[in-house]
Amino acid sequence: MLGNLTENGGKLKRIFIEPKLPAGLSPLHELATNLWWSWNHEAIELFHSIDPELFVDVNYNPLALLDELSMEKAQALLDDGTFTRKLKSVHSAFKKYIDEPKDDSQGQIAYFCMEYGLHQSLRLYSGGLGVLAGDYLKEISDRNVNVVAVGLLYRYGYFQQSISLHGEQIHQLEAAKFTQLPILPVRDAQGTWIKVYVNLSGRTVWAKVWELRVGRMSLYLLDTDIDDNNWEDRSLTHQLYGGDNEHRLRQEVLLGIGGVRALKAMKMEPDLYHLNEGHAAFLGLERLANYLRDKHMPFDQALEIVRGTQLFTTHTPVPAGHDSFPESLLRDYLFEFTNTLGISWEQLVALGRIHPGDSNELFSMSHLAIRTSLEVNGVSRLHGEVSQKMFNDLYPEYNYAELYVGYVTNGVHFPTWVASEWLDLYQETFGKGFLSDQTNHKFWSKIQDVPAQRIMDLRQQLKKRLLDWVRQQLQTDLTRRGENPRTIFEIIKAIREDALVIGFARRFATYKRATLLFSNEKRLADIVNNTDRPVIFLFAGKAHPADKGGQEYIQFIYNTTTNPDFKGKVIFLENYGMEMAKLLTQGVDIWLNNPTRPKEASGTSGMKAVMNGVMNFSVLDGWWCEGYKPGAGWALPEEETYPDPALQNELDAETIYNILESDIIPSFTNATPKVSANAG
Ligand SMILES: *Cc1c(COP(=O)(O)O)cnc(C)c1O
Repeated sequence: MLGNLTENGGKLKRIFIEPKLPAGLSPLHELATNLWWSWNHEAIELFHSIDPELFVDVNYNPLALLDELSMEKAQALLDDGTFTRKLKSVHSAFKKYIDEPKDDSQGQIAYFCMEYGLHQSLRLYSGGLGVLAGDYLKEISDRNVNVVAVGLLYRYGYFQQSISLHGEQIHQLEAAKFTQLPILPVRDAQGTWIKVYVNLSGRTVWAKVWELRVGRMSLYLLDTDIDDNNWEDRSLTHQLYGGDNEHRLRQEVLLGIGGVRALKAMKMEPDLYHLNEGHAAFLGLERLANYLRDKHMPFDQALEIVRGTQLFTTHTPVPAGHDSFPESLLRDYLFEFTNTLGISWEQLVALGRIHPGDSNELFSMSHLAIRTSLEVNGVSRLHGEVSQKMFNDLYPEYNYAELYVGYVTNGVHFPTWVASEWLDLYQETFGKGFLSDQTNHKFWSKIQDVPAQRIMDLRQQLKKRLLDWVRQQLQTDLTRRGENPRTIFEIIKAIREDALVIGFARRFATYKRATLLFSNEKRLADIVNNTDRPVIFLFAGKAHPADKGGQEYIQFIYNTTTNPDFKGKVIFLENYGMEMAKLLTQGVDIWLNNPTRPKEASGTSGMKAVMNGVMNFSVLDGWWCEGYKPGAGWALPEEETYPDPALQNELDAETIYNILESDIIPSFTNATPKVSANAG
């Protein structure tokens, strides 16, 4: 196993750590170093079966699990015929998958994103944007198309959340052990680790390139935490979305410009560049520079080529959500490009402005992305239209509907988010061919043949799994916070398996209105305390460390959880992440989403719920406008009735209570038997 690298007399020397695993288990190590295992249910089960408790303790990280394995345990596994048979079968499935030749007929696409949500143990994501990007990479692998992805390797990543006894969000940063991540150094033909540099405000900053294998495709990650850099530059890739605006700018220069240089250093010449959100938009400048430097092309011609081979996906319907920088700051970082590109500073800055001559206007990464991309898309039908209006200022001579802004509605990676029990049922019912043809309605219509009772049993089983986990989690968290034992007992005792369980988990950005439900606490108390059919709300989510409003929402909800009316009825689970997202979207009865319209560009968590037979109850915003039909979930109307947000909130809350009382709770009561025994 390759360990870390140390400096030795100015020369890098490879140090090998003796693999602890007996040779017979080396296929386990091979499986652990490619993320394919994370969406193959047999492979997950295989790692889980080695030591279920330890697997959870190491954050479901198989490399960490193998690191901690004792010699005795390893030998026991080798002697266990059932285990070795399973290992052999999973390993040969992996081999078969990996060895499938790629379809290269379409050319190569480079995919750039600031964050990737691939697995819980890789803290390279903060929320929906990253999880979407991660799901894309897995789908790219499954379809075996020729795409390479580029991102940053964060040593600390996004913060880990815990909650104090008073409901304050505590931010914890934990360094990743790179030796326990499925990443490998990328080396050139001479065996030297590939490094690229960027100029950051007069200093040269170096980044090493790592490869992370996602099935049949690779994500290349840049890492500045190396000896070549001074301490400040080393920390450039420590945190995701940490630091001030200038820090963000430096990271974006590294991602966009450094990323293109990394591809070039690896001798890759992608035919198309996909910018997933505007963070990577500087890549257009480096591509232009390459055409001018290497191909001696005039600027205008180079711009045409760059535009013709670039695609921009925008994710943020709120203008303030787009990264932008003052000209004075930008000058320190980008002025050198005026020489390479042979254009004036004014021309360069104009690429990110609506009004080129307005020196007070900030330079917008999204505007740069649009000016250097032929195709622009939003992430749902509604968001496509909202984006057309938002970017209309860039093209005032056109009507917004004529702008070349389309939409591709987000999706989720089915094998990642579906529960194993559902996957078995689907495969049994739909037959062969379904997994490689998931959008085929012919398959899905067979779901009607499955007896309702079987589905209800399956749903109850997944709900039980969730609630068992919730009780255990609460016991640990509340004890650690020093909550009084009586309160802990009351909360846990109240968690009944025949309750209607409603989930609300996502980033705590204020537009998502996590506290909307509490607009009328009296009415909410009546709903949750119906002794015949109690209702439980499970909340989870992180607020960005700089978002005080979001943190106040968390605190408000947290404080509600110990209020006598809401004990065990309103629950806040700390440190939301991908594994919790799976448990929740597989185990709740209803998935609730009530953002301020039209601010939810797409949303994807509700799609995870759908594939697990969970009903959505959501504002008609983002993907739900396309996903909803009467009888398949519930919707809050799309129209904005009041210009005053407070009145709109009040109306929305009333609508939620009404739909819960008059429709959702009665239909749940009719569909499910009452469980008499209290759990606990
Ligand atoms: C799916 C997912 C999201 C996106 O959820 P939205 O409801 O679309 O915001 C965010 N965070 C995690 C951990 C997820 O798994």
